This record gives sequence, C-alpha cells and structure tokens, in this order.
Amino acid sequence: METGSDRTPLITLKGVGDKVSKKFANLGVGSVEDLPFLIPRAYQDRSHPHPIAMLVPGDTFTIRGQVMSLYEKRYRRRGTLEIMVSDGKGVLTLKWFRYSRWLKKNLDDNFPVGSEIIATGRVDTFAGQFQMYHPEMASPGDGEGQGIVPIYPLTEGLTQRAVKRAVEQSLDMVEDHFQEFIPRDELDELSLPDLVTSIESLHKPPVDSDVEALNRGDSPWHRRLKFGELLLFHLGLLQRRRSVRQVPGFSVESEGELEKKLRESLPFTLTGGQERVLKEIVADLSRGVPMQRLLQGDVGSGKTLVAFICMLHAVESGRQAALMVPTEVLAVQHFSNMSRWAEELGIASVLLTGSMSSKEKKEALDIITSGLPVVVVGTHALIQEGVDFPSLALVVVDEQHRFGVVQRLALRKKGESPHFLVMTATPIPRSLAMVLYGDLDVSILDEMPPGRKPVQTIIYSESDRAKLHLVIAREVKDSNLVFIVYPLVEETEKSELSAASEMADRYRKEIFPNLKIGLLTGRMPADEKERVMSDFRKSRYQVLVATTVIEVGVDVPDATLMVVEHADRFGLFQLHQLRGRVGRGLRPSKCILVSTESSTPEAKERLAVMTRSTSGFEIAEEDLKMRGPGDFFGVRQAGFPDLRYAHPIRDRVLFLSARDTGERLLDKGGSEAQILQKRVEEFWSGKLELPSSG
Ligand code: ADP
Ligand code: MG
Repeated sequence: METGSDRTPLITLKGVGDKVSKKFANLGVGSVEDLPFLIPRAYQDRSHPHPIAMLVPGDTFTIRGQVMSLYEKRYRRRGTLEIMVSDGKGVLTLKWFRYSRWLKKNLDDNFPVGSEIIATGRVDTFAGQFQMYHPEMASPGDGEGQGIVPIYPLTEGLTQRAVKRAVEQSLDMVEDHFQEFIPRDELDELSLPDLVTSIESLHKPPVDSDVEALNRGDSPWHRRLKFGELLLFHLGLLQRRRSVRQVPGFSVESEGELEKKLRESLPFTLTGGQERVLKEIVADLSRGVPMQRLLQGDVGSGKTLVAFICMLHAVESGRQAALMVPTEVLAVQHFSNMSRWAEELGIASVLLTGSMSSKEKKEALDIITSGLPVVVVGTHALIQEGVDFPSLALVVVDEQHRFGVVQRLALRKKGESPHFLVMTATPIPRSLAMVLYGDLDVSILDEMPPGRKPVQTIIYSESDRAKLHLVIAREVKDSNLVFIVYPLVEETEKSELSAASEMADRYRKEIFPNLKIGLLTGRMPADEKERVMSDFRKSRYQVLVATTVIEVGVDVPDATLMVVEHADRFGLFQLHQLRGRVGRGLRPSKCILVSTESSTPEAKERLAVMTRSTSGFEIAEEDLKMRGPGDFFGVRQAGFPDLRYAHPIRDRVLFLSARDTGERLLDKGGSEAQILQKRVEEFWSGKLELPSSG
C-alpha cells in the first residue's frame, strides 16, 4: 500500500465514504491507484455451473443448487459452519472452519433454506461426501453479471459489490499507473500479455476465458503480474549483488597447517560432501573479494566442523573469525566443542553472550578488541553496539533462518568487509534460496556422516498415551535419553513455559516418579539452561522436557527418542529439525509425533509426510507447497519486498526466466532500462539498502 501526495484518495470514488475507505485499508488498498492491483481471489463461472455429482476432489469448481439446511456444529473448542446444497442429482456441504458472526448473519440473511446459491471453491471429500471449504457465494439474481464473475478478497464490512464497483471506477481513472515497464520484445519472447491488458482482463475476464486457469492463478494475465514482480525483485538483487562485489576485501593467507593438525586429531574422516564444500569455501577465502556464501546442509550433516575449519584458516592468517548463533544454548554448545579443539591446536577462543556477567563480557571484549587472532562464538550480543572486531576475516552465521537479513548485514559491517558464510539446515530449494539469500552463492552439503540410521517416525493420538509412556520407559531402561518437546501453546511465551513445566511436574510426580526429569525452557536464565543441557548430555537426567529452544543445532548423541507434543502445531520443517535431535549416535532412534488436535484431513496428511520422508529437502518442499514462505520461516524476512502474486516454489519456472531476463536487461541499458530502473527503485523502496543504481 502506498500513500503520498500524488495518490488519489479512495473517497473520490462513488459509493466510497470515510468508513468504507478505512475498510479498504485492511485489504492493503490505501488509494485509488492501489485498486487495479487488488486481484480477484477466485472466479465464478455462472454460465456453466458444474453438476455436483460430477465434481472431482482437489480442484476448484462453481456449483449451483438449493440450500437444504444451514447449521453450526461444535467440536470441543472449535466449531464449523455448514450449508447443505443440492442440485437435484447431488449433495454437497459448504464448510467454514473459522468464521465470524458477520459471515453467519450474512448467510442467514441471504441464503435461507430453499433459496438458490452459487458457490465457488476447492472441492474435497470427507467421509465419502463432497465438501467445499470456505467457498465464495452469490445469489443467481444479484444482478452482478453473468459469465465469469471475479470474486474479490473481502474484509469484514465490505461486500463483493462495493469492491467491484470501486475497482471498475479505478480502472478508468488511473490507467497511467499501470503502464508497461517491460520491453515489448521481452514480453513477446515469453508470450506474455502486456500489463494493461493483464490488469483489465483479470478484473473483467472475457467470456471465453479458461476459468480453471484463472482459479489456479495461472492465466496468462496472472503470469504477467508474477513475472513483472519477480523481474523487479531480481533486478534489485542483482544490483545489490554487483555492488557488494565491488567492495575490496582481502585474501586469507594460510598454509592450512591448523586444518591439517585438526584433521589428524579427529576420530573420523571428513565426508565427501564436507570435502567438496570446504574446497569451495577455502577457494573463496583466498580471493580478494569478500565471500558471500550460503552453506546449506541437512540437519546433522556436519556443518559445524566445516565452519570451524574455515575459521582456522582465518586465525592462521593472523586474523579473527566469529560464529554467530541464534540461541544461548547453541552458543554454549558450539563453544564447548570449538574451545576444546582450539585448545588442542593452541589457539585462543572466546564466548560472548548477552547473559554473561559484565565482568565476563569485559574479559571477552578485551580479547576481541585487542585484535589477536581468535575464534569467537556468540549470540546477538556480537552485533551489539560497542563490539568491534579490529581484524575480522570471517563471519559465520549459523541457522540463518532465525536471523533477519538486517542482523546478518550488521555483523558483516563490523570490521572491513570480512568474508561471510551463512549456514542453514533448511535444505531450501534453490529458487527460494534466491529469495531469502539472493545475494549469496550457494554450497550444498548433500552427504551425511556414515552410520546414521534413519529415525523411525510414528504418529500417536491422544488415546495412545499409555503406549507412549511404555515406549519412553523402555528407552530409558536401555539407558537411552528422551526428549519431550512442547510447542508454543498460546501466543505468549509465558504459557509455553507453563505448559512445559506443568508437564515436567506431572512426569516427575505422577507418571515416572522414579526417573530423573529435566526441564528446559527459553525463559530460564542462561547458566541454568547450560547446566540442564550438560546434565542431560551426561545422562544425569533421563528425560528432558523442553520447549522449542532445542529445535536448532542441539547435539546429544545418546538421545534416541524424540516425543513431540501437539505435533500439528508445528511446521513440517520444524518437526524435521526436532527429529534431527535424535539418531545422532549409533543406536536406532524414534520420533513420536503426538497429534492432539481434532485434526482435519489436511492436517493428518501433513503429518504423514513426516513418516514417509527423512529428506529435509523433500519435507521443506512439501511444507512450502502447503504454506507460504512467510509462514514457513515463522517470521517475515526483514529487508525484502513481499511477493504479492508469485510464489517462489509454485512459480519456479517463471522465477528462473525472470532472473535470466533481469540479467540481460541490466546489461542492456538505454531508455527502456531507465523506465525499468524507476520501477525497481519503487519496488524496493524502504527495503534493504539498494545501491544507487549501476
Ligand atoms: P549440523 O550440520 O546439523 O550442524 P553438526 O555439525 O552438529 O551438524 O554435526 C552433527 C554430528 O556429526 C556432530 O556430533 C559431529 O561431531 C558429527 N560429525 C561431523 N562430521 C562428521 C564426519 N565426517 N564423520 C562422522 N561424524 C561427523
Ligand atoms: Mg548445526
């Protein structure tokens, strides 16, 4: 939504007053100029309703029939709103899982039993019956036109009719705001329609349009919008990437003596994958250009060691290397490994976290600011004001998806253009990696250390609780360790804490009074967390009840059972991360997902993915298909423009072609390039520093 003096206020439109204008703001529409870009979310083919008896689950259809009943159903805390519709030959249930009083009233008023209804939505079957979830509805006689009717996204208090009227007026008023910015010959090459045609057709599809393509968001006009957006996106990234590469860096001069010594002391040899990525990274380090690289490797693939070896090269060259991780638990764990290795090699190492006492912090800072060659491990505390690295050669950021881009850049700015390595356990598809880390080169660690057995994954429901306790008892009896993880129960951290600690209490008092049960939550003081983790590692606890603080990176080789409570509330990839906490030693391991919700078929199907696949790559891809990349990472990535129309996974082909086109256009120059450049700047305005163009 843009606002500004050259913007036409919505109230200039007929039928839009102050009140309606505010409602539009909820849809991201702040001015008349925004309206043409408010693309319908579905299309209703009123001329050709589909016979109910001939529906096919999985696709979007329009049906027409008579309302037979309208009712609410209650299941424990949740409820559904349902309408039964018949067209004489077949019966279908329209169904809402979440709905407002406003919707209920609207339906009661407009679709009494016996009335005719037209509904459009995705069709599924449930217990052998056709269902349509959260459909779009209309009355046949509402005068809003025949043929293919656009259905707009709504917000409480706005009607289809009001949105439609506003959009139609806007199309005539502000046509110059959606002028083409992609050169004609490029569009022809890709067989894409121009922008004006696309916007107009999306709001008023010709009668002979392919409704199914429109409803899939895959019409040529949709593709044009997605392509335009992706092109602007890539052009911004390309410019940023080129400008970063112009900054002079330094080459890390090292013979690899420390690396050699470390390898000799390791109880294992590096995997082929580790050797390959090391070669790529070390080659980058020796160039005079700051490295910008993403190291992507599944949970447990051994990224830490790769990072440490790279850090050794920096230290051997007489400079400093820093590893930044998202949690204190991880910082301490990495530090305890790295400082042990460092000590053996006779080099200095330092830990810096927010919860250290000011005396400890000062000692750490003194070493860092002295400029001595040292390996530094820390949390966000590393990027706080006042932390200066006089000779920082390499920055490694672990588990990147927990950090915003802004934080990543903040550390990069410390010192003079250090080399930069981001590590992520998210084996994200390349196209999404481009979105999230578009300015980085990618190394892929695609091999696991030998001897890992796949973790057997089982789904339990609430009624399997007795069985679950048996399984836990059996693991413990074999002197294995068990994790039990709780999700955020409500929105606040406080209740997360209480759910986990209440559970720990129950396990201690009622279920396993003879076992030693630890508790780990994000809220505990850091030294307490450390103590619990190290006691667990030493088997002083047999069961650790934890919140998701243990999701990333935690390494406890003797743990063989991971129990995830309320598994439905986690993203698949998060579950994969959690599962990666076990199966790290030689013993066979299990992961039990306890599904406690009265879950929908979709939710069940989602969890089932976990039992079928152990590949992080596959799981991430499934997860991304079902949810947007924004949800996937829990937080929106700061610093990047939102993709409004395109999805980096579903639209992967367009994504790649936009990248190629962008590269070509950037090199071409000329007046067309200027028009384009202006749009790139608008698209990226207010986002992460886009270099003044080049
Ligand atoms: P991640 O990639 O998830 O960060 P880690 O770096 O924590 O994985 O490594 C997981 C475990 O594998 C650690 O215990 C580590 O010591 C071990 N490891 C790393 N490389 C190898 C190897 N080449 N052979 C055997 N074990 C290895
Ligand atoms: Mg790790």
